[in-house]
Amino acid sequence: MTLELTPTPLPSPVRGPGHGDAFTDHMVTLAWNPVDGWHDRRVGPLTALPLHPATIGLHYAQVIFEGLKAHRRVDGSVAVFRPDRNATRFRASARRLEMPELPEELFLAAVDDLVGLDQHLLSDDPDLSIYLRPLMFATEPNLMLRPSGEYLFLLMAFVAGGFFGADPFAPVSVLIGRTHTRAVPGGTGDVKCAANYGPSFVAQRLAQEAGCQQVVWLDAIERRWIEEMGGMNMFFVRQGFSGPEVFTPALTGTLLPGVTRDSLLTLAAGLGYPVSEERISVDQWREESLSGRITETFACGTAAVVTPVGRVHDTNDHWLIGDGTAGPVTTALRKALVDVQHGRTPAPEGWLR
Ligand code: PMP
Repeated sequence: MTLELTPTPLPSPVRGPGHGDAFTDHMVTLAWNPVDGWHDRRVGPLTALPLHPATIGLHYAQVIFEGLKAHRRVDGSVAVFRPDRNATRFRASARRLEMPELPEELFLAAVDDLVGLDQHLLSDDPDLSIYLRPLMFATEPNLMLRPSGEYLFLLMAFVAGGFFGADPFAPVSVLIGRTHTRAVPGGTGDVKCAANYGPSFVAQRLAQEAGCQQVVWLDAIERRWIEEMGGMNMFFVRQGFSGPEVFTPALTGTLLPGVTRDSLLTLAAGLGYPVSEERISVDQWREESLSGRITETFACGTAAVVTPVGRVHDTNDHWLIGDGTAGPVTTALRKALVDVQHGRTPAPEGWLR
């Protein structure tokens, strides 16, 4: 490994104006080719990359990435939340894209190196975190339509505030996405490849033009089952016989298996809520919201944490979830997650690094 510290370190701590632009000082890179395998591990200043115009990743989208966060805990230390899950999902993404799998220990070593070097840029403001962005892409310059023979893994980071602006817990309004599809059976919806995201921007713009913040993705075949919301998984709270129950759409192969989703299933069960994974259609969501059986809906993800859904818009129709504000179960689950991440309550075994 080579280590080179940046000659122009940032004053600490930092806070960017938005989500994704307050980059930290350093990056980790690691190259792959069939002869040397993973080699040339470098930790150095965050800097531009020289790319040949025929770089395969730019043309054929052999590009995968991840997103995970490090938080400052109340004891002053910094801990990364469940990086092993991201390492595993990164390997699944690589397999789907015919790319080499990065061994988990190299993924985690990169996380350790970057967080170790740049953690002083994270203040003790509990609304801030270090968002880590692992990326791997095909680097061979060749325009033949085939997988690349060379790859670059890269880890960079930025200091993140709230994904949805100043109030991280303000309810969002959502548009049911009737015109575009995120994922199809046999496609790439269950992995984190770059090609899943560019095509989603048009649906996101349509949602914004309809006065909403996010789009709700429906299944591609029947166009009625709720899958995800923007780059987040969804949860619903239903009033059961003996209190609120929590459920999330099952992983059918077209949903991304979110680390936050998995964590909330565990935390919700720990708080005593019955949890399940089941399908829910738009009609059911609407009817049960209007009848008061579904009392809360929220979205979750590394960037969005837990974000309540207040209002839903569909073609010529709209409805409120509960009274349109964050409900008690959403609030309790967000607190449970954030408390674990910040070391205010003990984390389940192996969740913090
Ligand atoms: N769905 C999609 C499509 C996403 O991009 C993300 C963010 N990675 C999520 C769900 C949430 O996943 P996680 O909780 O692992 O961030």
